Amino acid sequence: MSESHDFDLIVIGAGSGGVRLARMSAQRGARVAVVESRYLGGTCVNVGCVPKKLFVYGAHVRDELEDAEGYGWSVPTDDVTFDWPTLVANKNAEIERLNGIYGRLLENAGVTIIEGTASIRDPQTVVVGDKTYSAAHITVATGSWPVVPDIPGKELLLTSNEMFYLPQLPRHAVVWGGGYIAVEFAGILAGLGVETTLLYRGERFLRGFDEDVRAFTEQEMRKKGVDLRFNVTIESVEQLNAHYQVNLNDGSSLETGLVMAATGRRALVDGLGLEELGVEINASGHVRVDDHFQTAVPSITALGDVIGTPQLTPVALAQAMVLSRRLFRDGQGEMDYSAIPTAVFCQPNIGTVGLTEEEARQAGHTLRVYRSEFRPMKYTLSGRDERCLMKLIVDDASDQVLGAHMVGPDAGEIIQGLAVAIKAGATKAQFDATMGIHPTSAEEFVTMREPVA
Ligand code: NDP
Repeated sequence: MSESHDFDLIVIGAGSGGVRLARMSAQRGARVAVVESRYLGGTCVNVGCVPKKLFVYGAHVRDELEDAEGYGWSVPTDDVTFDWPTLVANKNAEIERLNGIYGRLLENAGVTIIEGTASIRDPQTVVVGDKTYSAAHITVATGSWPVVPDIPGKELLLTSNEMFYLPQLPRHAVVWGGGYIAVEFAGILAGLGVETTLLYRGERFLRGFDEDVRAFTEQEMRKKGVDLRFNVTIESVEQLNAHYQVNLNDGSSLETGLVMAATGRRALVDGLGLEELGVEINASGHVRVDDHFQTAVPSITALGDVIGTPQLTPVALAQAMVLSRRLFRDGQGEMDYSAIPTAVFCQPNIGTVGLTEEEARQAGHTLRVYRSEFRPMKYTLSGRDERCLMKLIVDDASDQVLGAHMVGPDAGEIIQGLAVAIKAGATKAQFDATMGIHPTSAEEFVTMREPVA
C-alpha cells in the first residue's frame, strides 16, 4: 500500500456495498475513506429493504387481528384504529439507530467518513466540496435512484423515497408499475387500510418470475382487495384540489389521493464526472465493469446497483467481499451470480430461487414439475381464504432440483434454507430423503411425490 496518496481506497457511496467494501478493506490494513452525501446505509437501510419490511410487518398486523377471533380472542376489529404517524416515527427512530451503528462500524474499522458530494477529478483524485483527496483506488458505489416516466404531471408523482415519509395516508392510492416495489407497496397500503389500485402496462405483473407464481400472486392479492389493472398505463396526472386525476391510455381516468411511481430505478452517476475520465456507461445507464468490477480506468472500480447486476443488498455485499479481497488481499475472488434467492414482500410473500419453469424449458431441460397448493394450517381456524403455492422444478435426466418457488406466509424464510440445497446441486431424491418438520408449511417441499408435468 502506497504512502504517496491520502488513502489507499476512497469509496464513493456508503450504502450496503460501499460500507462493506470500506470496512473489509480497512480491516485488511488499507487506509480507507468513504464519501456519502445523504445517509449511512444507503437505500437499503434508509428508503428500501429495512423500512419496507417494517411497514410490511405493520400491514400484516391487520391480518393477525382478523385471525384472532377464530382462536378465541375477542378483538373489536370495527373499533381498531391505526395511526400512520406513529408507525413512521417508530420506523424513523429505528433507522436512526441503524445509521448510528453503520457510523460506529466504519469508525471502529478505522474508516474516515467524509460527508458531502463527490466528483472524480482525475483517476486518483476525488473532490468533495472545496477539498481534494487522492487515493490509489477509487470505487464507485453510488447505487440507484427511482425513475419517474416523463409524462405530463410527473412532478405530482411520489416514489418509494417519499412514501417512507408520507405525513398522512390517503383514502385511495394508485401504484404504477409491476415490479418488486410496486407489489410490495400495494400490499403495504392495502394492508394499512388504503383502497389501492395497481396499474401495470403488461399482461400480468412480476415479469421474469415463474408464471404460476405470477398468476397465484395475482389471485391472492385480488382476494385481499387490491384493485389490480393490467394492460393499462398512465398518460398524465392532474391536480384537483387535494386530489389527483389519473388519465389512463384506455381513455378512462380515476381520482385518487396519491400516485406512486414504482417504475424502475436508474444508476446514480450524476455529477461524478465518470465519462470525462473515460469510464464507460453502458446503454442501460450503468457503469460498465468487467467480471472483477474494473472500469475502463485502471484505478476506478464500481459495484452494487450502479453496475446493473441484480439490485439486491446481499449481491452488493458479496461483490464488496470479492473486490476487497482482490484489492487488498491476494488478488483472487470471483462472484457467482447463480441461484440467487430472493423474496418479494407482497402479501402473501413470494420466495424464489433458481430457474423458473419457463427458464428451465427454454434452457432445453426436460422437466418434472412438482406443485402443491393448500390452505396454511393457521388459516383453518381463522377461516382466512388465503392459499399457499409451492413448486419445484426438476431436471428429469439428472434429478437435480433447478428451482424452488413459493407464494405464502414466510416464503422468504423458507426459501432461504432451500437455497443452500439448490446451490449445492441437491437432487429430488435428496429432497425426498429429507424428513419433514411436522406440522409446517415448509415440509411440503420434501413431501411432493407426483409431478404435475
Ligand atoms: P423493477 O424493474 O422490478 O420494476 C419496474 C416496473 O415498472 C416493471 O413492472 C416495469 O414494467 C415498469 N415500468 C418501467 N418503466 C415503465 C414505464 N415507462 N411506464 C410504465 N411502467 C414502467 O423495479 P422496481 O423499481 O420495482 O425495483 C428495482 C429493483 O430493486 C428490483 O429489480 C429489485 O432488484 C430491487 N428490489 C428488491 C426488493 C426485494 O428484494 N424484496 C424490494 C424492492 C426492490 P415491465 O415489467 O413491463 O418492464
